[in-house]
Amino acid sequence: MKVYSLRMRVETPLICTEEQIGNVLKHSGLYLRGHALRGGFLGPVYREYPDEVIEESRNPQLIFHPAYLVFEGLDTKPAHVFMYSCKICGVTEERDLYEAMDELQKGRIPEVTVCQNGHVFSIKTLAGSLVVKKNGHLEERNPEFTSVKSIGINRFLKGAEHKMLYEYVALSPDLEFKGVIVDLGDKMERLKLTERNEIRIGRGLTRGFGRIGVKIDLEEDALDKESERIARILHKRGGTIVLRALSTICGLRRGPKGLFTEPFPSSIDEWLKPIEFQILNGNAAMVGLEEFSGFSNIDRLPTPRLVGARAGSLFFYKVDRNHWDDASKKLAERRFTGFGPFSCSGLNIMEVYDVE
Ligand SMILES: [Zn+2]
Repeated sequence: MKVYSLRMRVETPLICTEEQIGNVLKHSGLYLRGHALRGGFLGPVYREYPDEVIEESRNPQLIFHPAYLVFEGLDTKPAHVFMYSCKICGVTEERDLYEAMDELQKGRIPEVTVCQNGHVFSIKTLAGSLVVKKNGHLEERNPEFTSVKSIGINRFLKGAEHKMLYEYVALSPDLEFKGVIVDLGDKMERLKLTERNEIRIGRGLTRGFGRIGVKIDLEEDALDKESERIARILHKRGGTIVLRALSTICGLRRGPKGLFTEPFPSSIDEWLKPIEFQILNGNAAMVGLEEFSGFSNIDRLPTPRLVGARAGSLFFYKVDRNHWDDASKKLAERRFTGFGPFSCSGLNIMEVYDVE
């Protein structure tokens, strides 16, 4: 397995969205989805290496993680439900996760009702937003948008089409994103993807939107470093593992009517035992549910609509003491290869979370 870091800079307004409301197209989502990045990288090389690209769609070797914004060198991450801000003074706070789990175990929903400045009942969860940690302090950060208006042009009259004014609410140029590409074989080199310095993604490509400068570097010891980090967390937390969703999470289960999806990770190893909380009806503190669908870049066939848990959702597990060595290695691998089906399109990407 090879791990590549992906740095991106938005060069022209960027719109990634699945919905259009009237004549307005607005960028949506907290992060750039793996399947959009996958298309941005593999689409242009199809002409040169058609067989290789088709082979990649049948037997994926490349895993495109969701890419998150970077502000002033700080990585944004999706907030979980135990991160709060005050609606009056804006002060932010992160509830100690392990205390929160104790509360859940006792059948209570952990709550914060007073902010550090004494404002009562003014606390909202930050779940659904992006946050950064600055010197150990939590800050909410959301991206800047730019609005672009465009007139529909009638091809035959060569003039403005009556009542066709489009508005694009796009991510602003100069924003930076960071992502990860994992290669289980040698596809990055064979398709010369490491040499690319630009991709195009999202809507309005013919209008010049969605141009992104990219820089790809091989991360030699990413797997070892991650395995050591997880080993430290296992020791520090007595075997408790909290996974934070960085993408939509869904698992496949077999039921009486065939396969169905559910908003929990599937194919988790035996030694990773879910900590079930009766009050949560499972081992997850979810940010919310999300529908997902996409189009295959190769055959343009619609992929099925799936329901998953949104980025920022937390999943709680326990690892027995005699499995800690294996677990740190396996979890580090899964951090890069994903925790279930559709990882190659950037679904089921999670990280082992710890409160710093
Ligand atoms: Zn306050």
